[in-house]
Amino acid sequence: MSDNPALAPKPCRKCGASGEVIKAGSRRFWVQCARFGKNGNCNAIGSQADNRKEAIQNWNNIN
Ligand SMILES: [Zn+2]
Repeated sequence: MSDNPALAPKPCRKCGASGEVIKAGSRRFWVQCARFGKNGNCNAIGSQADNRKEAIQNWNNIN
């Protein structure tokens, strides 16, 4: 995969909602479904990574 600055999360494979990049601290990122947890009833979540790009790739790989 190339280093694409426009890299963005794909829609959720389970419910079609958008994927949201979550940032926790300076080096913890992951992507979860916009309807994850208290926002809805979807349980789609990507693996944690230490940067935004990897977090999005982790999510896109499962979607
Ligand atoms: Zn979803």
